[in-house]
Amino acid sequence: MDKDGNCGAVLAMQNIANPISVARKVMEETPHVMLAGKGAEQFAYEQGFEKTNLLTEESKQAWEEWKKTSKYKPIINIENHDTIGMLAIDADGEIAGACTTSGMAYKMAGRVGDSPIIGAGLFVDNEVGGATATGVGEEVVRTVGSFLIVELMRQGKLPQEACEEGVKRIIAKNKDKQDFQIGFIAINKKGETGGYCIHPGFTYRTYTKEGHVNNPSDSYLKS
Ligand code: ASP
Repeated sequence: MDKDGNCGAVLAMQNIANPISVARKVMEETPHVMLAGKGAEQFAYEQGFEKTNLLTEESKQAWEEWKKTSKYKPIINIENHDTIGMLAIDADGEIAGACTTSGMAYKMAGRVGDSPIIGAGLFVDNEVGGATATGVGEEVVRTVGSFLIVELMRQGKLPQEACEEGVKRIIAKNKDKQDFQIGFIAINKKGETGGYCIHPGFTYRTYTKEGHVNNPSDSYLKS
């Protein structure tokens, strides 16, 4: 998603190593914002991306093993997922963002998480700031989490405060169930950043001219 509110996403796309680059092509080269499944894959080939077999022997064996019980039970911080969310601000204060994921592992065929849904896994409004999410995507979709955080910043909250409120909204919808992880990060027009999560163990990185800093995020639950 760029500073002008242009955005692109691909979902349920197989055989392409870098879907984030295909998402960018959707934004830049099509009148659409989302392409899914075979249509997304076909578009990727048309744009010059190569067909790649992403199934390793190791993950195939792990999947065969999982099928013996077929239990979907994400374990906090090692939930078999891998989202990378990035928010960037340039010297003129222009903001853009991106996120990419394989999604939760061992899910139902056809399941779509939050990451490709603009407003859920990622949102940027260049007048205000940007936010992105990781964790159990269903919960982020239910609160339109990243959009919510940007809107909270529009109302005057700092990125840190907005991320905390975003997590609290999810907690409020899950009073009896907190055995899952969500992490949000956010940035505002001044370049101020924040991050917050449900369970300890979520760390985000900030990159500036001075170098790289790892920021262990504060969490709603303390242990
Ligand atoms: N949010 C992703 C999903 O639900 C998982 C992740 O954060 O890695 O698919």
